[in-house]
Amino acid sequence: MTIEITLLGTGSPLPDPNRAGPSTLVRAGGRTFLFDAGRAVGLRLAAAGAASSTLTAVLLTHLHSDHITDLNDVITGRWVTSLTPNPLPITGPGRTREVVDGILAMLGPDIGYRIAHHADMTDGPQPVVTESAGGTVFEDAAADVRIIAVPTDHKPVEPTLGYRIEHDGAAVVIGGDGVPCAGLDELCAGADAYVQTVLREDLVSQIPVQRFLDTIDYHSTVRQAGETAERAGVGTLVLTHQVPTPAPGSDAEWVALAAEVFSGEVVFGTDLTVVTVEGTAT
Ligand SMILES: [Zn+2]
Ligand SMILES: [Zn+2]
Repeated sequence: MTIEITLLGTGSPLPDPNRAGPSTLVRAGGRTFLFDAGRAVGLRLAAAGAASSTLTAVLLTHLHSDHITDLNDVITGRWVTSLTPNPLPITGPGRTREVVDGILAMLGPDIGYRIAHHADMTDGPQPVVTESAGGTVFEDAAADVRIIAVPTDHKPVEPTLGYRIEHDGAAVVIGGDGVPCAGLDELCAGADAYVQTVLREDLVSQIPVQRFLDTIDYHSTVRQAGETAERAGVGTLVLTHQVPTPAPGSDAEWVALAAEVFSGEVVFGTDLTVVTVEGTAT
């Protein structure tokens, strides 16, 4: 049995014709989890053969806009395409409820139109929000799937979470944005795959705009992601949400920066890249 990771969106916050906003799909034990819901997540879900109506849960690493901008589309999509009530579990850090309540408020007119128009619709979307400060956030013993959340360091963005998905003896980590920290080391310990958003300090530091320079101090550089992966004994490091947008043909440069300090496999992520890790019962 396997855990399958699909990078739905690998883009930076700046719109890119080829990269959707940050979102990652993880399938394990017949369950499907969406981590973050960046720009165009609905399109990429469809491309990955998934849909908002069949997600087991949505899990948010943090509430930066690029990671949640299309959460409203996931909420609406699940609601209008489910013919019976289909509550959507959403787990995230503190203030996730405030964000989801805001989305429902924004959708207020639309929700009213649809309920008025469709006789079989008597209620609006049903997101079920759980705010977590860390610990086990999902457990399904029958499917042998467990998800653990741990606080990460993306200061001044607080709180933030990273996630570890365990299934059949395998483990996958969604690191989210942030710099190396003890929490990330704990999540990554012995993981088969580690998905990390990364920044090229050597490139961003050359952009003479303070607002870009500001981004360096709260993102893992490619090298730092490699160092975390090496320290934790990770099998495969997956680079995503690359900042700045990689130049065409520069994949090898990004991989090489991580490989300087990491002895495992490095995957340069693009939208719809799939990484599969094998469990013990394959
Ligand atoms: Zn981000
Ligand atoms: Zn962020």
